[in-house]
Amino acid sequence: MKVLVVGSGGREHALAWKLGQSPKVTEVFVAPGNAGTALEATNVDIAATDVDQLVEFAKTNAIDLTVVGPEAPLVLGLVDALEAAGLRVFGPSAAAAELEGSKVFCKNLLHTADIPTADYRTFRNADDASRYIKDKYSEPTDQVPVVVKADGLAAGKGVIVCETRSDALQAIDRIAGQKEFGEAGNELIIEEKLIGQEASVLAITDGETIISLPAAQDHKPAHDGDRGPNTGGMGAYCPTPIVDEAMFEKIESDVLVPVVHAMKRARKPFKGVLYAGLMLTPAGPKVLEFNVRFGDPECQPLLMRLKSDLFDVLVAAADGKLSELEPLEWDERPSLCVVMASEGYPGSYEKGRVITGLDEAAKVDDVKVFHAGTTTVDGNVVNDGGRVLGVTAIGNTISAAKLKAYTAVQKIRWPGAWCRKDISDKALQ
Ligand code: ATP
Repeated sequence: MKVLVVGSGGREHALAWKLGQSPKVTEVFVAPGNAGTALEATNVDIAATDVDQLVEFAKTNAIDLTVVGPEAPLVLGLVDALEAAGLRVFGPSAAAAELEGSKVFCKNLLHTADIPTADYRTFRNADDASRYIKDKYSEPTDQVPVVVKADGLAAGKGVIVCETRSDALQAIDRIAGQKEFGEAGNELIIEEKLIGQEASVLAITDGETIISLPAAQDHKPAHDGDRGPNTGGMGAYCPTPIVDEAMFEKIESDVLVPVVHAMKRARKPFKGVLYAGLMLTPAGPKVLEFNVRFGDPECQPLLMRLKSDLFDVLVAAADGKLSELEPLEWDERPSLCVVMASEGYPGSYEKGRVITGLDEAAKVDDVKVFHAGTTTVDGNVVNDGGRVLGVTAIGNTISAAKLKAYTAVQKIRWPGAWCRKDISDKALQ
């Protein structure tokens, strides 16, 4: 069977690696891929958002399963286009991908289905939103614990956590006044700021049956101790002890199952990965956001632990046959991914710096180095994006996995390379 993975990040490298282990899979293509996927699959020079070319490629090469990694092609309708061409694909339709593509749609759906989430208001312009803040917090010295969010996709930057009135007014101006995130800011949300630990619970669904995956914890802020600007994610580990069995069941029954039903009722049946970003508050888990694809970097430690054949799972989901699948098998040992990033990320950074030490890092026991923003120039692997590598390890304990991952990290070098040093410490506290 031939598989096409769409995307070029660490998530897509992990998907290609795991799918390639299936005895049923004869060939894995990655479009466009990176220097790491080139080593264990065939890279195809088509952008992840070039829907027409991807469909053409899948048709011409008789691809048996396409797996779409990132959200942008999902929102653009890649799944719809592949299905219209009679091809099998794992991922939601454009209509269902609105769950991630529009935060207003997501919040309204959660509200209607009575799924726990932060209280919120939606606005269509900066004036109304600013008036709401000024009326509600009339004293300039008031604490204003709100989060201002652009409705559409903004690569993780369209969410601004505020403490003061001027923070909130500035955030509204950036999103809806200056339109810093373009059309994503045509509508905005102001919501209650929640306090607690964050966790990610992902489920694979065919629209009827769900298979929840072990809970993971991402590390979004750039620096140790969760300080600094937000990033795409600087590391993750799983399973996380902050979600115990009772909490996991509550998340399944109060969040994941009702969302699948609510999407069906909204005539946007959901097939693919449902990713619940949660805040574990004293009042119970509340949804921060929904993503409609595997998280990056959560995907890397999850797939490191998965023993079942991923190809079988994704085909069953694509074919609406998840209920016929045997329960997933997992390695009991925890796994952890440390993201190594370019100097300057999440701001601007220089590309093309030569990366060394990858072979030595790969020799560390129980470690897999997934590539993200890398490419090959003159035979050298160089950085080509903000998040460059996801050094992923598995160990008997979280501490053991952490030690292995950082041992491998220390062997990898390029000018300006950096990473967080505290991935998984929240689990150990
Ligand atoms: P984008 O749409 O720009 O790609 P995103 O989907 O990554 O952004 P969210 O996951 O909704 O955005 O929010 C990013 C981060 O902001 C969360 O991981 C969380 O730390 C913080 N956050 C979001 N909403 C709240 C809230 N209500 N209370 C506290 N923190 C929040």
